[in-house]
Amino acid sequence: MIGVMLLAFQAAVAPAMRGSDAPVRVPSSAAHRTVVVDAGHGGPDNGMSGPIGTRWKVYEKDITLQVAKKLAAALRDRGLRVVMTRTTDTLIALSDRGRIANQHHGDLFVSIHVNAANPAWRDPGTARGFETYFLAEAKTEDAKRVEEMENASVRFETDVSAKKGDPLSYIMNDMAQNEHLRESSELADLIQQHLGAIEPGPSRGVKQAGFRVLVTAYMPAVLVEIGFGTNPADARFITSAARQRQIASSIADATVEYLDHYQRRLGVATP
Ligand SMILES: [Zn+2]
Repeated sequence: MIGVMLLAFQAAVAPAMRGSDAPVRVPSSAAHRTVVVDAGHGGPDNGMSGPIGTRWKVYEKDITLQVAKKLAAALRDRGLRVVMTRTTDTLIALSDRGRIANQHHGDLFVSIHVNAANPAWRDPGTARGFETYFLAEAKTEDAKRVEEMENASVRFETDVSAKKGDPLSYIMNDMAQNEHLRESSELADLIQQHLGAIEPGPSRGVKQAGFRVLVTAYMPAVLVEIGFGTNPADARFITSAARQRQIASSIADATVEYLDHYQRRLGVATP
């Protein structure tokens, strides 16, 4: 199982050459920076499915992979190094995703997901919008709902390498991780701003929750819920190839802006 996953992973990080039509500014802050792009779910873990009240069926794992691939391309266009945790329809344990990021000395970790309404809500099909999380203790019922939904992926993990217990409380006391939290919240804020310019649904803001996938990545890390797959209008938006490219460009622009800020804070001279 592990061997197969490693093989899949090596294929995933093989350097990809890509041409581009659109000229994109390559900022100096991007030099030698590595962004780890994580497509949520995969393999037997479909993630959420929707939309509600239609015969049409979309699966989160497909949308996250499509958007993650476009995000990887958009980041490479901007001069960044990219590592993807998966490039095919495979299951990677949540803890392994962070480990992959650490092994490749990632500077940032961006996990792509699709939200789902709680069926117990009144008119669950009408819930829509986008939100970006960073790793910290969940503060609201709604954040706890998303945390439980995304962490439930561990039920598909039969691999012995998936560690038991919740390392969150330990990690939260770590000083380096606290620094990462500030950085992560700024990145999350920029992603929300940039997505706000193109997304049809409302911004649900920057939120925090204890996502297992973010715990093991020792770097600023965010999880983006790009829309509600349970809402027909959101589902149409996040499954359109053209809209996916817009989502990817927005997140890539936010990432570059974040790195510019970060470099300025470090006092590194820009040539
Ligand atoms: Zn998800």
